[in-house]
Amino acid sequence: MAGRAAALDAADELAALRDLFVLDEETTYLDGNSLGALPRHVPDRVRDVITRQWGRLRIRSWTEGGWWTAPERIGDRIAPLVGAGPGRIVVGDSTSVNIFKALVGAVRLLDPADPARDEILVDATTFPTDGYIAASAARMTGLPVVPVDPDLLLGSLGPRTAVVLLNHVDFRTGRLHDLPAITAAAHEAGALVVWDLCHSAGALPVGLDAHGVDLAVGCTYKYLNGGPGAPAFLYVAERHQPRFDSPLPGWNSHADPFAMDGEYAPADGAVRGRVGTPDILSMLALEAALDVWDGVRLDAVREKSLALTDFFLECVEAYAPKGRVDSLTPAAHAERGSQVALRCARAPAVMEALIARGIVGDLRRPDVLRFGFTPLYTGFADAERAAWVLGAVLREVPPGPV
Ligand SMILES: *Cc1c(COP(=O)(O)O)cnc(C)c1O
Repeated sequence: MAGRAAALDAADELAALRDLFVLDEETTYLDGNSLGALPRHVPDRVRDVITRQWGRLRIRSWTEGGWWTAPERIGDRIAPLVGAGPGRIVVGDSTSVNIFKALVGAVRLLDPADPARDEILVDATTFPTDGYIAASAARMTGLPVVPVDPDLLLGSLGPRTAVVLLNHVDFRTGRLHDLPAITAAAHEAGALVVWDLCHSAGALPVGLDAHGVDLAVGCTYKYLNGGPGAPAFLYVAERHQPRFDSPLPGWNSHADPFAMDGEYAPADGAVRGRVGTPDILSMLALEAALDVWDGVRLDAVREKSLALTDFFLECVEAYAPKGRVDSLTPAAHAERGSQVALRCARAPAVMEALIARGIVGDLRRPDVLRFGFTPLYTGFADAERAAWVLGAVLREVPPGPV
């Protein structure tokens, strides 16, 4: 297995990108699906933002330094990574806040004359924040949330469906949902879809424009390596922009913010998704971090991601004592994101032991070990080493109650 890992690494067209990141030899970092690693050039860029732009130019940076237009400029940098044309993505606020804007905005895009369309379908296995926000959006809009198992979603769509909120990749299992087919089926049923791309943006091609997605949100601190708490993004399809009515219309989304007008008039385009003053330090750290994508083919990222997760699963099969772990991540490539989730008895003790030995994955209680594979900086030798150490740890931590 170690020999095969070396051969796979030698043939990897993305291998050189690893040097763009701050990583250490003692650690095998498999948690880029929670917090992407730091690109090497980011500290100097952030230092410049603080010392020169803030320290010396001060207020002038809003115009001369391009601070004011950063949310849409950085949105346009993310756009090609998720298959969106320019002018459709704006960066700012957290994913949670953007889910709120997208969901309420989607309900407001529907024809108000159709009171029969009164349900918001939400992935029953969703990341909790998506569910909490959907429940609040439901109370505000008067449309109840109906939790649905994503496997049964197509059968749940109907004349009562107003909006569907789904995760492209399930955060727990790493399961990839069929965005083109689900989007088409929802449209067929007369509904709109909001996709949460937290675990797919930067991990695989998404094709937002090509598949006619209505609205989408995504995280930038996972596979996009934007840094802890980096601002999220909001996508609004071009055809919906003229009617997109944000539930958080701050002065930054006004058509003429510095008119300081008492009446709200929305700006054109994705800028409508802005709210208040952007978080410039985080935002410009993200902008710098996006440089690592220059010249990277997303198809190559996807191919490597699948090869890495296949190889890791094969190594786990070879090294782990029989029956001790069970993969929750689908074997079929068409249903797999860029992580592997293993169900394991005594998972908390196992993950603690793995981290103590430099294999950094994470735990989703009660019994899931998650390993994220970021193709830009994770190699096949990392996958082999992680599986080997996992095998050793499983021999030391006897099975038993969770
Ligand atoms: C990571 C993640 C979030 C995070 O939301 P924040 O507002 O950034 O804390 C939300 N939804 C999903 C599906 C995620 O994976």
